[in-house]
Amino acid sequence: MKLKAVFFDMDGVLFNSMPYHAEAWHQVMKQYGMNLSREEAYMHEGRTGAGTINIVSLRDRGYEATPAEIEEIYAEKSRLFNLNPPAEPMPGALDLLQQVKADGLMRVIVTGSGQRSLLDRLNHHFPDMFTRELMVTAFDVKLGKPNPEPYLMALQKAGVAPDEAIVIENAPLGVRASVAAGIFTVAVNTGPLPESALLDEGANILFPSMQALADEWRMFVDTLIR
Ligand code: CA
Repeated sequence: MKLKAVFFDMDGVLFNSMPYHAEAWHQVMKQYGMNLSREEAYMHEGRTGAGTINIVSLRDRGYEATPAEIEEIYAEKSRLFNLNPPAEPMPGALDLLQQVKADGLMRVIVTGSGQRSLLDRLNHHFPDMFTRELMVTAFDVKLGKPNPEPYLMALQKAGVAPDEAIVIENAPLGVRASVAAGIFTVAVNTGPLPESALLDEGANILFPSMQALADEWRMFVDTLIR
């Protein structure tokens, strides 16, 4: 393998934002008479808001939400999420990024998030690690994870082949998208799901945390490119 680029998912990989997302999803669905447990929210992580709402609506109510209702529910979910303080960087994330940069590897963001201030936030916590050109966000994709589209787009933006990149993902559907794009997939289990939820989607290797990946990066990457 000729490693040239590392693709980073954002929520649950670089920022510890998933507990806030899971709680906001749980609360908003309750407001609308549906039941989405916090753990199930982690299983849907990476899906578009509309995708998650419709899966739960079909199951709990027997019909899909209208576009207007989806917009309303998603706006309320975002409002609840934004009541929280800004999510902290994931422990170990900066450590890992510094090693990746020192190795001369490209860093690419691949996220379903559509926050306008994303790059400012990334630059604040991880200075000189990311550029606007090497980001795939909600504004770039049509389908989103678990479709391979975001990762295929990342390959294109970075100008690398699937065997020249690795993906770092924390969510089962993110792993599915990366595996479908043909990219070596590193799972970090930063949430409450069992390891099997990530391994069953085809993750090539699993670390229990971002700090564990940072600690073992040298050995891992030397094994990978040997
Ligand atoms: Ca994630």
